[in-house]
Amino acid sequence: MVTSLAGKCLCGACAFTATPTSNDAGVCHCGQCNSWTGGMFLNVYCGNTVVFAEGAPLGFYRASEWGERVFCQICGSSLIWQTQDAQHQSVSIHAFDDPSQFTMATQIFIDRKPTCYALANDTQNMTEAEVFPKYAPNGDA
Ligand SMILES: [Zn+2]
Ligand SMILES: [Zn+2]
Repeated sequence: MVTSLAGKCLCGACAFTATPTSNDAGVCHCGQCNSWTGGMFLNVYCGNTVVFAEGAPLGFYRASEWGERVFCQICGSSLIWQTQDAQHQSVSIHAFDDPSQFTMATQIFIDRKPTCYALANDTQNMTEAEVFPKYAPNGDA
């Protein structure tokens, strides 16, 4: 996918454009994402392409040494997990105007998934132990 897509938070104050690298979406089952979203963080990787409307009331929460969570300060929508240098941005598919164009292809922190539900999609699954070497080579969670 090389198309710039439009999206926004629930109240609309945080409108943005972003260019996902593919239609493949991933779910993170880690405890931080569950607490942050109140559900599952279903996201697409967008590199560093997110551009917000000027004056968007963004909030930033640093839940780890290298990650940062971006949300709307008005309506509380969970929008982006990104590295603190904002070079790696994973955007909630639900923030895009048309989430149905994405297909869930991966589940990470599968060993942290609450046991009260399971997802039926055929996905590539990674445990916490598999995720950190791949995405945090310094082992700094
Ligand atoms: Zn909002
Ligand atoms: Zn997570």
